[in-house]
Amino acid sequence: MPDAELAPVAARIRAGGRLTVDEAALLYTHASDDLLSELATAVRDRFHPPRRATWLIMAIVNYTNVCVAKCDYCAFYRLPGQDGAYLLDFDALCARIDTVLGHGGTLVGFNGGFHPDLRVDDYAELFGRIRARYGDALEFYGLTVAELMFVCKVSKVSYAEGAARLRDAGLRWITGGGAEILDDRFRRRHSPLKYKVEDYYAAQAAILDAGLGSTATMVIGFDETLDERLVHLDRLRRFQDAHDRGLASFLCWTYKPFHTELGGAEVPTSEYLRWLAISRIFLDNIVHIRTSVLTKNEDALEGLRFGADDFDLPTEDEVTEKAGATISLDFERILDHGRALGFALDHRGPWPLRIPQAIPDATTA
Ligand code: SF4
Repeated sequence: MPDAELAPVAARIRAGGRLTVDEAALLYTHASDDLLSELATAVRDRFHPPRRATWLIMAIVNYTNVCVAKCDYCAFYRLPGQDGAYLLDFDALCARIDTVLGHGGTLVGFNGGFHPDLRVDDYAELFGRIRARYGDALEFYGLTVAELMFVCKVSKVSYAEGAARLRDAGLRWITGGGAEILDDRFRRRHSPLKYKVEDYYAAQAAILDAGLGSTATMVIGFDETLDERLVHLDRLRRFQDAHDRGLASFLCWTYKPFHTELGGAEVPTSEYLRWLAISRIFLDNIVHIRTSVLTKNEDALEGLRFGADDFDLPTEDEVTEKAGATISLDFERILDHGRALGFALDHRGPWPLRIPQAIPDATTA
């Protein structure tokens, strides 16, 4: 079967056509690595100069590990009052920011848990102080979508109101983090207290409507089915079509299974690269596809051959490190890996909050 069925799909992708869900399953299951690489590169090159990619140095600063969501794939959280639970104060956060700036970093992602005592106004005050202290020398992702949803609920404000208050305090970006697999079957199995998928997208819409920037993320390698992964991509693409193509990027990384209740084994790099390629081809309305140095180290640079155009060089992230990620500060060694693959690598500044005009329309050919 495969070759006869794959050939017309491949021809349509090369001609600028849009991949269907069934075709994505077909390609992922049957296409060779070489074909996936070629098609993902063809889509990538509609958005970006061939064989060029961008990077920056950043830290994920975990301001608290207190969380009441109890996801079974998480090795990071502590319940309120549990041994090891912490909440960093402003000075401690600034010390962490200064460390990443000292490494040449320009971006911080603040990522914690569902802390039951924090309110929207606490975050607004914090982000206002950080913006006042660092100005444009630092860009930061204030929260993940999942954290915003929780803090809005405990603060008894709508997502729109919460996003507006944070924006007015000086926040510019929230990330799509906390998404893992956006399928309610997956969520019921592993994190029933976190959110429902429809609610997640309601929060994403409120963030974009408030004029904040946001991103899309995905994590693979739990026990999700191919169908659940495809539901994630399909719903994301439909959201992006319906919201002025407002999400700036898509980042996929791999689940780290160590010290978690769920356990399991790590996804091999070969599987990660194939999924990255499917994501690049399928998400033809998202400009930037990013590969994960955080969970794949220098192997992530292979992702540039599978449709990725950008990556972070992380200096810290307790969430993934607790579950087995190892972070290297030997940035040149990692960059050399990409250069050896034939890519010119450019340091990037922050993206504009909205970049829909850069997206070519998929044809219906
Ligand atoms: S993954 Fe996030 S929301 Fe889930 S338990 Fe860990 S910190 Fe909490």
